Amino acid sequence: MSSSPALLMRLMASAYSVAEKSGAIARRVMQSGDLGIVEKTGANDLQTAADRLVQKSICASLSHSFPKLTIIGEEDLPVETVEEDLMETKQAEEVLLKPCPPEYSSLKEEELVVWVDPLDGTKEYTEGGYWDDSGLLDHVTVLIGIAYGGKAIAGVINQPFFNYQLGSGAVLGRTMWGVLGLGAFGFQLQEVPDGQRIVTTTRSHSNKLVTDCVAAMEPHSVIKVGGAGNKIVQLVEGKASAYVFASPGCKKWDTCGPEAILQAVGGKLTDMHGNAYCYDANVKHMNSAGVLATLRNHEYYLSRVPQSVKQALS
Ligand code: AMP
Ligand code: MG
Ligand code: MG
Repeated sequence: MSSSPALLMRLMASAYSVAEKSGAIARRVMQSGDLGIVEKTGANDLQTAADRLVQKSICASLSHSFPKLTIIGEEDLPVETVEEDLMETKQAEEVLLKPCPPEYSSLKEEELVVWVDPLDGTKEYTEGGYWDDSGLLDHVTVLIGIAYGGKAIAGVINQPFFNYQLGSGAVLGRTMWGVLGLGAFGFQLQEVPDGQRIVTTTRSHSNKLVTDCVAAMEPHSVIKVGGAGNKIVQLVEGKASAYVFASPGCKKWDTCGPEAILQAVGGKLTDMHGNAYCYDANVKHMNSAGVLATLRNHEYYLSRVPQSVKQALS
């Protein structure tokens, strides 16, 4: 008799399915034309109806199926009952079919922390639209990360508007996922051409530290796009060789899921000193010492971080 899948794979299968539902919610809100924008700390820190609905959907769905999880979402929302149509009970078959890495086969719900960024790249979500051909909607992702023992071990990235520039007949959205020791799926792993230093960084949260640090990498080219999830996707799809953000601003929910996927294919994410972030339930949310992520050659980029940047970020 075959035993049922391990908890981690059942949780990942649920996370995959609710991330797909989240993508549909993000598209529906965009289609409605009423984004319900609220400023949080300022004009560069926004929340929309999609951020609110998606967080409710993910948190309620996962805690319904896995009541002992610790789930930390970006948005501060009032406690209220969640509409039935936001609940997702499906578990993606493509995840359940994969074997759980042996080191994670006996994890318990109460040992796991789930970090949720219901919409990453909200700024780009509010500025973009189906009509625009600048690609801003491609920057938007839904991020779910799973941490065990303080380490990001599994993650899901849904990109709700993937293919939106192909026109009205295209099927929109895709879901990428990965588990340490198993691998990552839903995309074609690719590296930038040998020797090319292509740095991806923020388009809307820049400052002198950020630009100084990017310049110190001696990049052949620099890409400025929104979203932490989107920038990790660029790394694993061979569009960029390093994600450099030498500033506070990114939070644990921005990096947990993407870091797990990046690591599952051999990449690395650290702060500007080369230290790993901890994803325990009680850590501070801000990634205060910046984000440096690479698929390969992490040591090179780390060696280029200026002393002044290191001193400014602790
Ligand atoms: P970006 O690369 O600017 O899109 O930032 C990646 C993630 O970090 C997004 O979720 C941003 O909202 C967040 N972030 C970065 N810098 C800031 C900031 N100064 N204030 C608020 N959120 C920020
Ligand atoms: Mg975010
Ligand atoms: Mg967000």
